[in-house]
Amino acid sequence: MTVTAPITQDVLTLPRKLPTGGKINIVGLTRDQLHAALIAAGTEERQAKMRVGQVWQWVYHWGLRDFAGMTNLAKDYRAFLAEHFTIELPEVVTRQISADGTRKYLVRIAGGHEVETVYIPEEGRGTLCVSSQVGCTLTCSFCHTGTQKLVRNLTAGEIVGQLMLARDDLGEWPERGAPKDETRLVSNLVLMGMGEPLYNFENVRDAMKVVMDGEGLTLSRRRITLSTSGVVPEIARTAEEIGCLLAVSFHATTDEVRDRLVPINKRWNIKTLLDALRDYPRLSNSERITFEYVMLRGVNDSDADAKRLVKLIAGIPAKINLIPFNEWPGAPYQRSEPERIAAFADIIYKAGYASPIRTPRGEDIMAACGQLKSATERSRKSRAEIAAEAGL
Ligand code: SAH
Ligand code: SF4
Repeated sequence: MTVTAPITQDVLTLPRKLPTGGKINIVGLTRDQLHAALIAAGTEERQAKMRVGQVWQWVYHWGLRDFAGMTNLAKDYRAFLAEHFTIELPEVVTRQISADGTRKYLVRIAGGHEVETVYIPEEGRGTLCVSSQVGCTLTCSFCHTGTQKLVRNLTAGEIVGQLMLARDDLGEWPERGAPKDETRLVSNLVLMGMGEPLYNFENVRDAMKVVMDGEGLTLSRRRITLSTSGVVPEIARTAEEIGCLLAVSFHATTDEVRDRLVPINKRWNIKTLLDALRDYPRLSNSERITFEYVMLRGVNDSDADAKRLVKLIAGIPAKINLIPFNEWPGAPYQRSEPERIAAFADIIYKAGYASPIRTPRGEDIMAACGQLKSATERSRKSRAEIAAEAGL
């Protein structure tokens, strides 16, 4: 089916979302895109807004997957929808559950590629870590995903689909007819899985529009954190077009070390990055920027590093998340000693910043930060290549 709706930028993105078979997958379309798609398929214009509302509620509030069950729509309209549209999620290939309750899903997307999605239950909340790309074009030397070449960007539907399949697995859709279930097992979402979300900006933005919509999945923008390695030109856009919280993979306090750890630093160095963060709209104490800092033994974990870090971020409402390095086969680094991490944290804390040390979750199933890498794409790079890229 060809889309012949009025041309707007959103509509132009529709053909990318066409699955094989010519039907349009509803999952991942923003309200505007769904509106345009319904009209393009033949829905009367004056009814389109109401139809969007009805379909939206079935798909995102009730978690329904087939049009036949949309009982407030006329039978022939349901048949019409089934003829032109699908409601499809990526397929869960395997699910592993860690001793600490963390769940890792290996998810297959169109083309047979695989990404990983991780659910981390915590006291009174639960965080879903979603992927935005298969692999990553960047090659941070401490990151397992970075050893996997980029295969492709995820579509908005594949990003939203990760949240929906986790809710399927956790049984988190309201029972039909029952009052809305307010207990949120997935209460927070972090774009910290595989990939660099700001290199897939439009799809990530559209997916977050669906997730943040006031009806359906309804995660508020303050419960969503996007983590970037420092794609400076897209940082202001993140605030303007998504409005979620921001985390930055900082990891070093000199350009010399950051060039080695996070090679995108050669393009946008520490000063350029910090200037962009200072300008991040809506920056306030309640919406602080998270600085992620992976603790690598003897590389970036000295007292001098901690003091430099505090100086660098002066004036930016921030919290520093210290991540003990998670090992993976062939990794050219070791985790800093616990005492070293504690001493580092102490310097930052005394300077007035929250400095939580992130407890590694799901390490036994390789679900911890930086360990994600899909099996089909494993071992593309050798130890020697990884070490060379790390400048070791
Ligand atoms: N590409 C984005 C988001 C995904 S990575 C980014 O780089 O920000 C999520 C976080 O895990 C990043 O801060 C990343 O630097 C960190 N990370 C990567 N590999 C790690 C490892 N082996 N141990 C601990 N943290 C790691
Ligand atoms: Fe990509 Fe982030 Fe890993 Fe760097 S840390 S290689 S940007 S996923």
